[in-house]
Amino acid sequence: MKKVETVIIGQGIAGSLLAFELLKKGKNFLVIDNNHQHSSSTVAAGLYNPVVFRKPTLGFNADKVLPFALKRYKRLEEKLNTKFLHERPYFKFFENFKTINNWEGKAADHKFREYIKLPLLKELIEGVNNELPYAQTKFTGNVDLPVFLQCSKDFLRENNKYLEGDVVDISHNDAIQIELNHGKKVICEKLILARGHQEQNQEFGYSTVGATKGDILTIRSTELKCDYTLSKGFFILPIGNDLYKVGSTYDWEDKSHKPSLGAKEELKKRFESLVNLPYEVINHESGMRPGAKDRRPLVGEHPEHKNLFILNGLGSKGVLLGPFYTNQLVEHIFEGRPIDNEVNVERMKKYYGNIEN
Ligand SMILES: Cc1cc2nc3c(=O)[nH]c(=O)nc-3n(C[C@H](O)[C@H](O)[C@H](O)COP(=O)(O)OP(=O)(O)OC[C@H]3O[C@@H](n4cnc5c(N)ncnc54)[C@H](O)[C@@H]3O)c2cc1C
Repeated sequence: MKKVETVIIGQGIAGSLLAFELLKKGKNFLVIDNNHQHSSSTVAAGLYNPVVFRKPTLGFNADKVLPFALKRYKRLEEKLNTKFLHERPYFKFFENFKTINNWEGKAADHKFREYIKLPLLKELIEGVNNELPYAQTKFTGNVDLPVFLQCSKDFLRENNKYLEGDVVDISHNDAIQIELNHGKKVICEKLILARGHQEQNQEFGYSTVGATKGDILTIRSTELKCDYTLSKGFFILPIGNDLYKVGSTYDWEDKSHKPSLGAKEELKKRFESLVNLPYEVINHESGMRPGAKDRRPLVGEHPEHKNLFILNGLGSKGVLLGPFYTNQLVEHIFEGRPIDNEVNVERMKKYYGNIEN
């Protein structure tokens, strides 16, 4: 039976970032992951953008989490000697003049203005239907998640800090005992759960971790020559070699892991409404975004089991939110730093058993 101080269950964005926080502190830890094919991090585009286009408004705590995230990914690139952070322009196309007026109205807010470029752009982009002016946001790009997750896993493996397997049981006595599907057992003092959508019906299931299905396509277009992200209620992200990620849908009802034909057609239709160049669909995936009812991260300790922690609910913003809140949780566990009320899982206590606020 293996004994370590801290175990992290999950090696998605959350679990990987947690691992590097523990490493920085010189902690004795182990990451366990079951390689779930539809986990959010494995299918996500990895985009980051401090602006929410729909409203438009600044994303949750953008001024805090964005600089923190960029600094962290750059440091990790150095540590892992691998490139995965790609800073690139993000263009937003408008549906009509009403949405342009909304955008320009919002631009009067000086805080918002720091994150957008003015004036609106008018240059034509080859093959893109952009008769209307379009916007550009600042400090945008993407993290190549397949690369980040793989090199993180390789690093952890090489340092004997990674164990593959499905956690089938957790028992809480003086120490915490974890049992895996292949029969191995691990004992630890502290356990951090970063299980994404698989947290449902588990220890922190009461905190209403839900799952919103998202479908995403990979397409090839040899004629679309763009190195920036395009967005018009969906996104087109270049990933090199004439390949682009086109996504993504939001489905709150469908709990199956199967990519949906309807979603594929919807994404193709959207792509064709913005780009009039030939393309072919190379791949179609779906994943489950983990989220809390109030769409805020879930960070903190279990109401009953001491030394059992959660980092979850990153929703559709794992890349941006992950670094800041994994750091906050680790500093809370080992240095007693308080967790921000707006993300503290304590706010969900009213849903746990008979405990009422
Ligand atoms: C289609 C789509 C597009 C997206 N695009 C973006 C984007 O552009 N930008 C962005 O920031 N976010 C995006 N997201 C959201 C992003 O993917 C999530 O915010 C993030 O991946 C959540 O990471 P996580 O580590 O919390 O969870 P997960 O990625 O789900 O990771 C959980 C891990 O825990 C493991 N695990 C679970 N249970 C067990 C167990 N019992 N035993 C062992 N291991 C276990 C799983 O195998 C998995 O590896 C997108 C999501 C989808 C679905």
